[in-house]
Amino acid sequence: MSSHAFAVSVPLDDVFARSLPELGVPHEAQEAPDPQLLVLNEPLAAELGLDPAALREPEGVRFLIGRSVPEGAHPVAQAYAGHQFGGYSPRLGDGRALLLGELRGPDGALRDVHLKGSGRTPFSRGGDGQAALAPMLREYVVSEAMHALGVPTTRSLAVVATGRGVQREEVLPGAVLTRVARSHLRVGTFQYVRALGDDDLLRRLVDHAIGRHHPGAAEDERPALALFRGVVAAQASLVAQWMLVGFVHGVMNTDNVTISGETIDYGPCAFMDAFDPAALFSSIDHGGRYAYGNQPVVAEWNLARFAETLLPLIDDDQDKAVELAVEALGGFRTAYSRAWLDGMRAKLGLPDGLADDVVQPLAEDLLALMQPSPVDHTSFYRALAEQGRGDGTPARDLFLDLAGFDAWAERWAAAGPDPDAMDRVNPVYVPRNHLVEEALEAATSGDLAPLGRLLEAVTQPFVVREGMERYAEPAPADFGRYRTFCGT
Ligand code: AMP
Ligand code: MG
Repeated sequence: MSSHAFAVSVPLDDVFARSLPELGVPHEAQEAPDPQLLVLNEPLAAELGLDPAALREPEGVRFLIGRSVPEGAHPVAQAYAGHQFGGYSPRLGDGRALLLGELRGPDGALRDVHLKGSGRTPFSRGGDGQAALAPMLREYVVSEAMHALGVPTTRSLAVVATGRGVQREEVLPGAVLTRVARSHLRVGTFQYVRALGDDDLLRRLVDHAIGRHHPGAAEDERPALALFRGVVAAQASLVAQWMLVGFVHGVMNTDNVTISGETIDYGPCAFMDAFDPAALFSSIDHGGRYAYGNQPVVAEWNLARFAETLLPLIDDDQDKAVELAVEALGGFRTAYSRAWLDGMRAKLGLPDGLADDVVQPLAEDLLALMQPSPVDHTSFYRALAEQGRGDGTPARDLFLDLAGFDAWAERWAAAGPDPDAMDRVNPVYVPRNHLVEEALEAATSGDLAPLGRLLEAVTQPFVVREGMERYAEPAPADFGRYRTFCGT
């Protein structure tokens, strides 16, 4: 064996580092004093063509924290900019993250293998480059739940405790999350390049993004515009899915908006219990900019910032470029409304042939009834299906305005809903805040069992299982107001 013999031989490529060297600073992950593999996503490892047993070996764990770098890989910290809460920051970048390289899975798709919590980088600014264990486990649980719900997302391959203390309000155990994504290209990546004013680099970035995410755009007479249209469609569909499952991202800054259309950056995110357009959990979002009900409008705003970066490649005539971009951005509302309404039709079990102008008021009137009660967003749709099967009145029992609900339910029943079809799209188990907190608290004091059970529930969200009743229930009344944090 050569001196480059790795216990885990991972065929990592360096496509990003090679094609866009201006956007990646070669960098090494920090050493961990006592790395311990806490969670490994075996199904994902298999999907990627990696051997879970090898990843559990000491050398495999070293790979997962970026300390054993396969031949051919050249880890980089990626540069990007971004609008944070509406204000522009010209230089963000991976301040505690690292792109190890790309992996071509057995399905042929290229995926980034990326670390979070891997130490300081040239982009760290005032930050320590570290991540605490609980938030990394939180990202693992929530991202894997999203995947199981069918929502496009970055995936979580592993969490490794580092054995290093991380200074927050108190000293917390540190960890590295190994995550996997179609790419980490963001709107903020394009903003960074546009601000450099280097049109050649912008063109290479556009080509790279098209090649990875929207290959059809290459054939278009205006590839940059076609890329924009592709991202508009992907984000419209993504945000519609967030709305349908009751997910609040919490920090929809342009650096957290992917070109791939995957959900990224699970910081202050949370699933809402009671349906509420104002649902918001982030401790720093005082204005409610990223509240549940604002997400579609914010996504559109973020896409406008994306369009601005592409203008020089859309047309030489700036007015013409703006006109074309505005027209393409107009597609967001149509695509979003279509995806949302189709989703609501499915959640309510309504037939495909039923006219939109019947489905739309049914959906909207329902939400207007749910909000004041308040009604739990997730369990309501399962209760409604039960009631639709003639199994008591579990949905009705959730409402304060019984007459209002009864009138609505009559219209719904008259539309011919299929309760079994509803159960195939409405989850029983989502990572509810009180369950996540309980699991993280236990994990922080060394007991991973509650986390394991929660993962079991949320990675198979549509199948009711005996003994898992408490994972289907809303938070107890004394759980109180839930707060989430950024940069943990
Ligand atoms: P986020 O809120 O996670 O999207 O992060 C926004 C920016 O802050 C990114 O540039 C991160 O890399 C950076 N950042 C967050 N936490 C830290 C940290 N502990 N150390 C260094 N940079 C960080
Ligand atoms: Mg981020």
